[in-house]
Order: sequence, then structure tokens, then C-alpha cells
Amino acid sequence: VGDSADYDEAVNSVCPFCGVGCQVSLKVKDGRIKYVEGINGPANEGRLCVKGRFGYDYIHHPHRLTRPMIRRADAPPKGLNVDPGDLSTHFREASWEEALDFAAGGMTRLAQAHGGRAVAGFGSAKCTNEEAYLFQRLIREGFGHNNVDHCTRLCHASSVFALIENVGSGGVTATFNEIENADVAIVIGANPVENHPVAATYFKQFTKRGGKLIVMDPRGVGLRRFASHMLQFRPGADVAMLNAIMNVIVTEGLYDQQYIDAYTENWEAEKAHLADFTPEAMAPVCGIDAQVLRDVARTFAGAKSAMIFWGMGVSQHIHGTDNSRCLISLALMCGHIGRPGTGLHPLRGQNNVQGASDAGLIPMFLPDYQSVTDDGVRRAFTDVWGSGDFSNEKGLTVTEIVDDIHAGHTKAMYILGENPAMSDPDVDHAREAFAKLEHLVVQDIFLTETANYADVLLPASTLYEKTGTVSNTNRQVQMVRPAVSPPGQAREDWWIEVELARRLGLNWTFTHPGEIYTEMAQNMRSLDNITWQRLETQAVTYPSLSPEDPGQAVVFGDGFPRPEGRARFTPAKVIAPDEAPDDDYPMIMTTGRQLEHWHTGSMTRRASVLDAVEPEANASLHPATLRRLGVAPGDMITLQTRRGSIDIMARADRAIATDMVFVPFAYVEAAANTLTNPAIDPYGKIPEFKFAACNVRKSEAP
Ligand code: SF4
Repeated sequence: VGDSADYDEAVNSVCPFCGVGCQVSLKVKDGRIKYVEGINGPANEGRLCVKGRFGYDYIHHPHRLTRPMIRRADAPPKGLNVDPGDLSTHFREASWEEALDFAAGGMTRLAQAHGGRAVAGFGSAKCTNEEAYLFQRLIREGFGHNNVDHCTRLCHASSVFALIENVGSGGVTATFNEIENADVAIVIGANPVENHPVAATYFKQFTKRGGKLIVMDPRGVGLRRFASHMLQFRPGADVAMLNAIMNVIVTEGLYDQQYIDAYTENWEAEKAHLADFTPEAMAPVCGIDAQVLRDVARTFAGAKSAMIFWGMGVSQHIHGTDNSRCLISLALMCGHIGRPGTGLHPLRGQNNVQGASDAGLIPMFLPDYQSVTDDGVRRAFTDVWGSGDFSNEKGLTVTEIVDDIHAGHTKAMYILGENPAMSDPDVDHAREAFAKLEHLVVQDIFLTETANYADVLLPASTLYEKTGTVSNTNRQVQMVRPAVSPPGQAREDWWIEVELARRLGLNWTFTHPGEIYTEMAQNMRSLDNITWQRLETQAVTYPSLSPEDPGQAVVFGDGFPRPEGRARFTPAKVIAPDEAPDDDYPMIMTTGRQLEHWHTGSMTRRASVLDAVEPEANASLHPATLRRLGVAPGDMITLQTRRGSIDIMARADRAIATDMVFVPFAYVEAAANTLTNPAIDPYGKIPEFKFAACNVRKSEAP
């Protein structure tokens, strides 16, 4: 860091990476960001992690897409074969006019020939709320259906399903900062030290002042050093473990009957269901000693105020919705919702996955989770849009759209800022689908793996080059502002969306993101009292009860947005993971992120500091496992599942169980999703990224 002599201008914005939503001050000199400092945002109070502080120079990377491009007629077959430093072998430069006409023309042609359903869209949680709103509107209004989704399907879709089902709202019930008012906190299936590092600092401080932190995870994640209880349970045994804890609360009478009577329904069914889940019966299933399960139950139920945080270790299972149902039931039976220091908090992964979901970028809901099957809801939107009706059927999700391409129904796609050719499960299946598309429009900042399959490339802008709003894991709506201009002819995403929509025949007249926000807010009660003008000067947490209210950090103190104001207990059965280890695939592979790399790596692997710290694809195994396999740290190993195999460098990690291997999914040269299982949760439709039966061996010498 330096002083004001070091820069020409300081611009306040929001970090583009994880869902914490740290506010930053971008120091700009000569049209480039020179360095980044944390400022006093509501979620970070001046703090930043290594990604926020050092992971910014990707925006000046020479591989940025700077001109619209159209696939050459004589280009080689589609595949991961384009040199990002020289696109001319596959694409030719085009004017914006030509590229937009070509992009819209291809979609229109296929929609006219096969019906609007032939065109689907993936939007992005990396874009602003306004851009997410426009994207879902473009697919719904332009093509008449709901086949529009984004990466929430790979992230917290199961958590959101369970939250809407049981408490009536998909957002967190309390900000993570509320841990300051808690006595006890559970962190399950999450590794905030690497994935939400600034949130993790609050969790650590909580333990320093005496708070009890109960960490539950098959991996011994970074917070274990701060934990009063570390439950390293068997992968996939979440429901068994949580039901056993709730069984103790029931049998020992530790539940809050007054709260249950006042604010819940279906308690008797839950209580009866839990009777079989004694700690003694479940201990061999989940691998946690019965006495530890009892102690955790007494600690959580006995707290004056307690919170539950969870991550993708909970959600990315075929029983992800059931995992979340258990966590909701656990909080409800103890009355740990709706007061300071209590609540349910699924830690959101991407910087705007909360906002993109709120804005309706999902196939079953319009903005504010209003059902597409409700005629009155659809009419409220088409009245504002000045358009005709669109389908009342829930649309297809990310993985279902890929299958729909293989089935020959989806023939064209518009993909904005998503990289499913890296992020989808069984990714070869997804890549084969994208190669089959007759028309693929990709709008992005780099030639991502997905962009390799594009027919037309529309050069877009990073978060530090645009104006708009984003909503973090805390429900805090914050404004982002441009510090530098997009390079070359790259444009803000909302501008590209508007130009495309006009060419699809839609009467869109937006000239500024503020106009889009104002339209969006018309049908989103969550944004009541939160005007664009307010956001220009302050972050606001929704819901905000008045123009002066900074927003409600804790919600549902006086009932839930469900019938009769009551939350629901939904009992959960134990469901085994989709594929069990066997003699051929004896180990369990799980995937996730690392501290330095974010998602598919398109940004962080082009950030010089982050790439220097963590430059190579690696998989973590316990040292005892490596010894058994005759492998030394740094050796190459071959990981194989029923979907495929990859070669990757072995890394020793004592925190991982001896029958597990952890693989980050940021590295294209060893793409973890070559291996992952596409089986999905039946409710949230989220794939089982956290459990694949896997064979591990030392690689053959090259
Ligand atoms: Fe950015 Fe998340 Fe790190 Fe904050 S914690 S600086 S939002 S990556």
C-alpha cells in the first residue's frame, strides 16, 4: 500500500470473487489498477484476503477479449484447441454491428425453425444484479420459456430449495457477522479459511472471546484449530450424524417447546422420525463416537444463541436438500432463529450468486423467487415488460440443458460469463454437447474453455470496469463502480444484452444500469426502500423496513413467510451416495476450491501473484495413503473414475481422511470435473460433486 501520491484516482467497489462481498478501494494510475485496499464495508470492515488484495491484474492480461469475433468458415472442428494468444486460426474479427447481428440472427433462425425452446441461456453470478435480471428477461421474453439458469445450480440450489420449503425464503436468516452475538456456532461442509477467508476471521475472533465452534467436515478443514469439537465424519453421512444429534435433543428433552409451538409445524412427525436415529445406531454410519454426538447436541441446544453455517460439502450431494432440511430442523427445534446471534447461513460461493438468484436467473423462479407457474406472477412481469406471456412450465436446469442438447432439442445457447465446459460434472459429456450446438453465443472476458466452442465471441467487462449492484451472502446490496475502461472494444455486459435484445425484436430502451435496477425493483418486494440513489452512498441489507433503515441483519423473529407464519420440520431419511466405492474404485474423490484460485480459474490463474503462489494442478491425499501407493509428494498420480481419468501432482495433507482424495477444479490441464458424478439431487437438481468412487495410482513414467 502507499499514499495518494502513488495513484491518480481511488475508486470504491466490491471484490469480484467470493460471496463475502468485501468492499475495496481501487488505486488507479495511468489507466491501470495499481493496488487494492480493503475499506469499511459492512461485511469486511477493512479486511481483504489474498484474492481480493492481490488478485486483480487479470483485468490487464494480454489474453482479454478486446474485439467481437466470429468463427471462421474454415475453422478446425470445435474443441479445446484454440490458442488464447492467437484466436485467428478459429475466429475472425468483426464489428459490433456484424457480431450482434450474427449472434441474434442465429438464435432467431433456430427459434423460428424449431420453436423458442431451441434456445437456452446460462447467465452469470459474476455479473451485476441488473445484468442477471436482463439475462433472464431476454430468454423469457425473447424465446417464451424458462430454460435459463446459472451456477447456483452447482452451488447452493439444494440449500435454497430446503430454505424456501421450510422457512419460506432462500436467503440467509442472519448475516455471518452475527456470530459476534452467538455462544455456539456450527460450521459444516464448509472451509471458510480458504473459500470465505474474511468471514473466517470473524469465526476465529468468536472463538477467541470464548465462543464454541463445532466444525463438521470429512476433511479436517482449516478451522479445526479453533474448534471446540471437530467431527470428521464419513463422507455422505451428514443426515445420519445430524439426525443422531437431533435424536439426543429429543430424548433428553433439550428442545424449545415454546418456540416450536409458536412458530413451527410438523414437529410430531419429525420427533417420531428421529426415534430410530440413536447415537449408538448412527455412530458406525457416520464414524463419530456416540458420546461426541451427545456432547454436540447438548452444547448446541444448551446455547443461549447459536448459528449454523454451511457450504458445498452440505449442498453438493444427491441428498443435499435433505442435509439442509436437517440443519433447518436442528435450528428450529432449539429456537435458534430470529434473535441476535442465531440463524441459518449457507455461505454463498460467488460474489453475486445471491443477487443473480434473487434477480430470477433460475428456471423455476422469476425475481424474488416468485414461481413461473403462477399466472398472476407472470402477468405482473409481462405488464412491466410490455410483452406477451411466456411458458408457465418450470425450465430446465444447467445439467438438464446439457442433456437436452444431446437429445437434439436445444440447438442454440447464449452463455454469459459462465464456464460450463469446466464447471459441469462429467465435463466431457458437457463439452460434447457444446460441440453439437448449431449456434453458441459466448459473452466473456477471456477465451474460456466454453468459448472454445463458440460461434461468436462478444468481449465483455470485468466487475472493476462496470457500474451496477451486487448482493452478497449477507443479503447486503452494494454498488460496484468502474475504475478503468474495458480494453479495446469490450463493453459492459448490460449494454451487450440490450443490443442483442433489440435485435431479437424486443423493445428495450435502457441507457443506464440505474434504469434497469428501477424496473427490477418494481416486482421485487425485497428491494423495497432500497433505491439506486441510496445505494450510491451506502450498502443496504434487505429487507429494509424504511428509507432510513440500513436493513435487517436478522430476520424471522416474529414468524416466517409461510402459511400461518410457521416454519416446517421436514424429516430426512439416510440416502447413500450415488456410487459406492468398490474394488475397482476404492477411494472417495471430492472437489472444491483453494485459497488462491477461484472456480474454473479463468480469472485467478491469470492473476500473477495468485498464479505464482499456486501454479500447478494438485490433488491432496493423506501421507499414509501416499506411502501405501508408493507415491512421494510432488509425484504424478492418475485418478480414475467411471467417467474418465486425469494425471495430477500429489500433495500430502494430514487433514484429509486416508480413503479420500481432494481435487481442486480450477485447472484445465487436470480438470477435476472429468471425473465427477453427474447424478443430481432430485429437488435442487445439484450434482454430487462431493462424492465419486475413485481409483488412485502412481502415474506411469512418461
Ligand atoms: Fe474477496 Fe471473498 Fe477474499 Fe473478501 S473474502 S477479499 S470477497 S475473495
